[in-house]
Amino acid sequence: MLKLTIALVFALTASAQTEVAVHLHNTAGVPAGEVKEAMRIAGRLFEPVGVTLRWKTCEAGCEAEAGMPTYVLGLAGAAVEMPLPGALGFSMLATGKGNRGAVSLPRVSTFAEANSVPVAAVLAYSIAHELGHMITRSKAHSNGVMKAKWDRENALRMGQSRLDFAGDDVAAMKAALVADVKGVSRAE
Ligand SMILES: [Zn+2]
Repeated sequence: MLKLTIALVFALTASAQTEVAVHLHNTAGVPAGEVKEAMRIAGRLFEPVGVTLRWKTCEAGCEAEAGMPTYVLGLAGAAVEMPLPGALGFSMLATGKGNRGAVSLPRVSTFAEANSVPVAAVLAYSIAHELGHMITRSKAHSNGVMKAKWDRENALRMGQSRLDFAGDDVAAMKAALVADVKGVSRAE
């Protein structure tokens, strides 16, 4: 019986492909083609986590629930003030369910242009970074996608799709999502 249980648990964790809803509130009017490309790149970044991102873009209010872990990200224009100088986005972990955040289009564009990489790539990595914070409900930074401040080398790697989530971050997201999907409440 114990063996069977272990086998079942292993099968569940090994094959677990978690679906997560990501609603993009495109207030900055990012062209649809760029949003689509950013979705493609961000989706690939979450493959090692075993996560399929179910995207939805919304012009007005975004629904906060989709029957699966749901995150709402604003693509913000110049009118939205970023809490931290130099940050490309932020997550509101202490507000409501901690599932809302924003990415600053002016900051993303400036960083992309300064390093000659496509805006869609930087947008994708910024979205992935904020999703990383919201999924783990942690403000912690590390390397790769979750680095606190990307430098020129990171930007070049983004352009070549060679910047990924660090192994510890992949593990932390997997653990958090397993807990979420099971409905286990976690300490804030
Ligand atoms: Zn961060």
